[in-house]
Amino acid sequence: MNLELSEEQEAVRRLARAFTDREIAPYAAEWDRAESVDRSIVKKLGDLGFLGLTVPEEYGGSGGDHLSYVLVTEELGRGDSAVRGIVSVSLGLVAKTVAAWGTEEQKRTWLPRLCSGEALGCFGLTEPGTGSDAAALTTRAVREGDAYVISGSKMFITNGTWADVVLLFARTDAAIPGHRGISAFLVPADSPGLTRREVHGKLGLRGQATAELTLDAVRVPASAMLGPEGKGFSVAMSALAKGRMSVAAGCVGIAQAALDAAVSYAARREQFGKPIAHHQLVQELIADISVDVDAARLLTWRVADLIDRGRPFATESSTAKLFASEAAVRAASNALQVHGGYGYVDEYPAGKLLRDARVMTLYEGTSQIQKLLIGRARTGVSAF
Ligand code: FAD
Repeated sequence: MNLELSEEQEAVRRLARAFTDREIAPYAAEWDRAESVDRSIVKKLGDLGFLGLTVPEEYGGSGGDHLSYVLVTEELGRGDSAVRGIVSVSLGLVAKTVAAWGTEEQKRTWLPRLCSGEALGCFGLTEPGTGSDAAALTTRAVREGDAYVISGSKMFITNGTWADVVLLFARTDAAIPGHRGISAFLVPADSPGLTRREVHGKLGLRGQATAELTLDAVRVPASAMLGPEGKGFSVAMSALAKGRMSVAAGCVGIAQAALDAAVSYAARREQFGKPIAHHQLVQELIADISVDVDAARLLTWRVADLIDRGRPFATESSTAKLFASEAAVRAASNALQVHGGYGYVDEYPAGKLLRDARVMTLYEGTSQIQKLLIGRARTGVSAF
């Protein structure tokens, strides 16, 4: 792997960095308190091509490689994980999956709108009763002539109340338990029978809309199925394998923000007659954050490099997600420690970084699930 970025990659990183510093970071605390980002940010992300990275230009995407996508995701995560999550889901889990599995008609219908920011996507896998054991989902899609009628509910769906299309997973064959009876559908969010309720009171990612979706006999044409019937779980897992790289990149951004904040505060805050940066134990905290940033970044870039070279990457993606999410929590906590009591109030960024980081060890597969995936890959034994 070549660790030197190309000119194009440097340029996209500069663009994302400047955009984050100008349009996101100054507002992150305010959006967190208001429990909503300013939604005009979506159009701005679309205008810069950040919602279409890696999607072919013929479908309205901005092309580019996965390392560029990771660089942009890192920067957005450095500014505000709530904004980063909007992109990771709408582009990372939905648009990329439509590009990979969609029919020509599905690609032409959804990709230009998703890539421009005119529309947002959400990813409906988790249900109130099934999280880690996603293959046990119970939402049903029953064939009626040229349509499917879908009933059930989905929980904790990022972008849920803002989305225009739901990439939804439902059981099309109740006689087949487990993953083989599941299919994927592209369900317009304004479909009659689909209701959405926002989940409030989250610890972090408060600027992001998270929703419970209820489907009561929602009718979609058979052409809304994404990928072959019964292959929905493969669609979901292929989306999540790449999605975990995106979460990892967001965590690198959080850890980098923690490092920046800790270094800056340690240089300004004086105790015992000198800036706290002069105390060895403060340097230890900063060194630990710095090592976490570098290690998480290298693991994440490796995944992008593997994808761009067409090599297998799923276990490496789980590895990066597991390490980077735990590292982001550690880094944010260490940064809070550097700030002392001031780290505990929201005038300084460390507390928000810690709250935002915490969920990264939970979604797109908890840390325990990543360990089971890595363990299965190494031993050949499934311990689920
Ligand atoms: P459970 O599966 O009930 O797990 C509870 C605990 O048991 C965890 O510690 C887990 O690691 C452990 N556990 C479970 N099984 C095992 C096992 N076999 N071995 C060892 N330990 C085990 N989902 C979506 O589909 N789309 C989204 O956009 C989305 N966004 C989200 C946004 C937020 C803010 C949150 C909080 C969640 C989101 N989720 C989303 C759901 C998320 O993916 C699930 O919460 C996650 O998969 C865990 O499922 P669960 O909450 O049901 O926990």
